[in-house]
Amino acid sequence: MNDRTALVTGANKGIGREIARLLAAQGFIVYVGSRDADRGRQAAQEIGGGARPLRLDVTDAAGIAEAAAWLDREVGRLDVLVNNAGISITLDPPVASDVEEFRRTYETNVFGVLAVTNAFLPALRRSPHPRIVNVSSGTASLTWSTGANPQFATGSGGGAAYRSSKAALNALTVFYALTLAEEGFKVNALAPGLRATDLNERAAASGGDPAEAAEGAVRLAVLPDDGPTGGFFSWDGTPVP
Ligand code: NDP
Repeated sequence: MNDRTALVTGANKGIGREIARLLAAQGFIVYVGSRDADRGRQAAQEIGGGARPLRLDVTDAAGIAEAAAWLDREVGRLDVLVNNAGISITLDPPVASDVEEFRRTYETNVFGVLAVTNAFLPALRRSPHPRIVNVSSGTASLTWSTGANPQFATGSGGGAAYRSSKAALNALTVFYALTLAEEGFKVNALAPGLRATDLNERAAASGGDPAEAAEGAVRLAVLPDDGPTGGFFSWDGTPVP
């Protein structure tokens, strides 16, 4: 088989960059998605190996179509799509997000995933073992937000716009998994855990290494054919409710 190919959105920094690095280390040709061409080029160069820059703003419909058409034409097949690009506008309080914040957050975290996934589906369908990993958040778990011992209740875990956008992403994950199961796709969501990245200023001191989260993403990216689909997993592989 030719080289396996992967696309990671928002891979110029943070968790996405680590995912791209690990996939390249496993021998993938990795398209390092970045909305800024220079940042993408620099990240791909620093990762080295099979890393290649791909300009991709997940909120730009024309740009997505152009990137997908280029990949169809020049590469022909995509084995792994990691929908990692995400934004969080305010960290708290969780119930005070306004409509505009919801719109902006969903544009990237939900509609962006939908647009990118649909655009790259034809290339994924040409893979013998297509895999989609959606980078979600443990704060999306409605079980972990309520109940007797909520891990993420009021005052922790981010704003309502962010958390509900990731809950919607989990729902999308399930629907893609159901729709594509018979074609051999594995579509799963990842809770990467609190990581020290630019997304989360609070995690600067307490957040873990983004590379650890990336290992969880790569595990889902190379699942065997009898692996799970439509699931929600923590970075260490344990199921998230
Ligand atoms: P970073 O802010 O470090 O990275 C986010 C990446 O997404 C950047 O490359 C950014 O690009 C990119 N991005 C944002 N908007 C767009 C867009 N419209 N088009 C393309 N790329 C875009 O954050 P993390 O690495 O922490 O976040 C990665 C994922 O992990 C996100 O989905 C986040 O929600 C999730 N996550 C992170 C946690 C954490 O503790 N860090 C915890 C739970 C989930 P640019 O550099 O141009 O801004």
